[in-house]
Amino acid sequence: MTQVLAVPPLRQTWRNLVFLLALPIALIATSGQQLQPGSQTRTLQVPGGEIEVTLPDEPMALSSADLLTWVKNCAGAVAAYYGRFPVDHLILRIRAGSGSRVGHGVTYPTRGGLILITVGREATTQALAGDWVLTHEMIHLAFPSMADEHHWIEEGLSTYVEPVARAQAGQLPVDEVWKQFIRLMPQGQPGAGDDGLDHTHTWGRTYWGGAMFCLVADVRIRERTKNRKGLQDALRAIVGNGGVISEDWEIGRALAIGDKATGTGVLQELYRQMRDKPFPVDLDQLWNNLGLALVDGAVTFNDKAPEATIRRAITSGSQKRGARKERLMSPRSNSYLSGEN
Ligand SMILES: [Zn+2]
Repeated sequence: MTQVLAVPPLRQTWRNLVFLLALPIALIATSGQQLQPGSQTRTLQVPGGEIEVTLPDEPMALSSADLLTWVKNCAGAVAAYYGRFPVDHLILRIRAGSGSRVGHGVTYPTRGGLILITVGREATTQALAGDWVLTHEMIHLAFPSMADEHHWIEEGLSTYVEPVARAQAGQLPVDEVWKQFIRLMPQGQPGAGDDGLDHTHTWGRTYWGGAMFCLVADVRIRERTKNRKGLQDALRAIVGNGGVISEDWEIGRALAIGDKATGTGVLQELYRQMRDKPFPVDLDQLWNNLGLALVDGAVTFNDKAPEATIRRAITSGSQKRGARKERLMSPRSNSYLSGEN
């Protein structure tokens, strides 16, 4: 194993800034681990790969076992979504921080995949159960590195897939997924003077504009394949063709592989629509078609909506599992505005 930290190509101003700030910490963490081999490092086997976890070197409210269980759960959700953990070997450094929550996370292509994440010294298992950050970071491993102008697809994928993957794994209630999307997705809409996703590098367009691309793509793929394929199939194919964070790809190559896997042209078509034009999405119509509404802060489900089956397939996972769930749930489909779990 090389002792040298490979520096990823510099990509984007804020990303570079974060990287430059975090690099000394990564170097310290790496050299510390090399000076004291195994002292706080554990290797976890996960489906399709392994994770070399370095635990905080100071007292925490959480035990090492708690932290390792959290890592396994996050990796399990990501592995289940993609069919395997996206990289063979991930280096994960958990650092202690102030407070009682999971704090900042960042992911690099270094040595096949490096994640740095901070956990508060007072954090409890409840904070870990509610955490989304580590799953978000692990999803970054499952897509090739893009040029600066396509940063929106990297963040959009993590923003969209994270709650969906956690729901599929039973780690997040389905209504929480849709509540987040209904409340937060409008931040991804184009504003005045928008020049499309490749040229409008605001926070809202990068994270939620990217997530909106993913949601619309998922629904369109399912519409055109009679709900037999979804974005998940496209993303699995990209990883299956070696499209992981340590690889620098053109966006067109990734989208073409994804489209081939679903037998559609949805990703490339939607990219042409969204890359250099505002292209607002009628989200109210979309929620309505999927049978979703937010009433007094709670999500309601209409199983008679034209695309209710698409909505259910998104959060129920692989197609076989989705089909089985669909049959199990069909007796409930006549209850208008029923709950869902
Ligand atoms: Zn991210």
